[in-house]
Amino acid sequence: MGRNEPCWCGSNNKWKKCHMGREAMKPFSPFEVEADWRRRGQKGYCSHSLDGTGCANGIVKSHTVQRRGGLSAIAEGKSLVMTVKPQSMRAMIDHEGRPPPIEIGIGKASVFPGFCGHHDDAIFKPVEGKDVALDAGDAMLFAYRAMAYERFTKAVHVENTMVQRQMDRGQPLPIQQAIQRQCHITLAGAKRSLAEIDTVMKEYRARLDGGSHAGFHHRAYRFDGLLPLVAAGAFMPELAIDGTLLQRLARGTAAFEQLTLTISSYAGRSVAVFGWIGPDDGASAAYVDAFDAVPDADKADAIMQIAFEQLENIYLRPSWWNGLPTPQRAHLRERVYAGVATKRRTPGGCSPSKPPLATAGIVESTRS
Ligand SMILES: [Zn+2]
Ligand SMILES: [Zn+2]
Repeated sequence: MGRNEPCWCGSNNKWKKCHMGREAMKPFSPFEVEADWRRRGQKGYCSHSLDGTGCANGIVKSHTVQRRGGLSAIAEGKSLVMTVKPQSMRAMIDHEGRPPPIEIGIGKASVFPGFCGHHDDAIFKPVEGKDVALDAGDAMLFAYRAMAYERFTKAVHVENTMVQRQMDRGQPLPIQQAIQRQCHITLAGAKRSLAEIDTVMKEYRARLDGGSHAGFHHRAYRFDGLLPLVAAGAFMPELAIDGTLLQRLARGTAAFEQLTLTISSYAGRSVAVFGWIGPDDGASAAYVDAFDAVPDADKADAIMQIAFEQLENIYLRPSWWNGLPTPQRAHLRERVYAGVATKRRTPGGCSPSKPPLATAGIVESTRS
């Protein structure tokens, strides 16, 4: 092919700047990939104003679970909690892609550079205090922050896929072609889910700016004690916890519902808040109904199972994790990684754990 022709791989770069001579290049090392991932993961923006209008005080490391209260309530020693997120490429390699949870400081836990200082303070003030009202207004703030986090991780995923296009360096042409084909598919999927989340984010922003909760729904629960876990994130409800099929994660143009879940605590009592924009009889509603049908005495255990299975932005009390029976730890680690490769989950996953992951009663529940 001609040096100045667009490269065959679809990168939109000229061949001479892309795949020409790639088989003779020095192979890309996993540590170069890691350095690149870290750089891209630190590139921030304000989720509330993508063009920076109304932003002030720079991009901050925004906590998805509030530091005072939520995180500090489960922290031990020098303000440490445990994270299930792989922290380095070395850990990935040493543990065959499934590293165990490790301790991190609460200053680093759950943060993402996804808001400017002004919007982070102004928007989330109502849920950053000593207590929280579990009404639609506060529930929408939890949901919005969880979606913003999810949007950020999807944007980083798109960037990472770009890096992976370099991983065929030093390989013969047929392998280059296979790798580029795979990257093309991954990138298309990543861009599609980013676009889906952007659509939902626009819906949240419009409601926040207009002071309306129309079409937003929530279910919130306050426990009578402290769960050893906090979490924030969003997922597409596919299977209810009783195994009912809710929506197929198939191709197509239908908008999939994004269900958010935040678990935090106020004044020593955990709260769990589900929120979504969409119908009150769709997949999200059905998912939350199945949770609601779990006996109150088993809800603490069930919400922890859901967090392990559906979210990766979860943080644990170290002594709780270390005190679990070994088979239960192994089982929970399996559940963390069950969704990594395929985002498909096992049905009927929510029978009570033995022993329960947590025990706490319900003292308040609200819905909208
Ligand atoms: Zn190329
Ligand atoms: Zn801003």
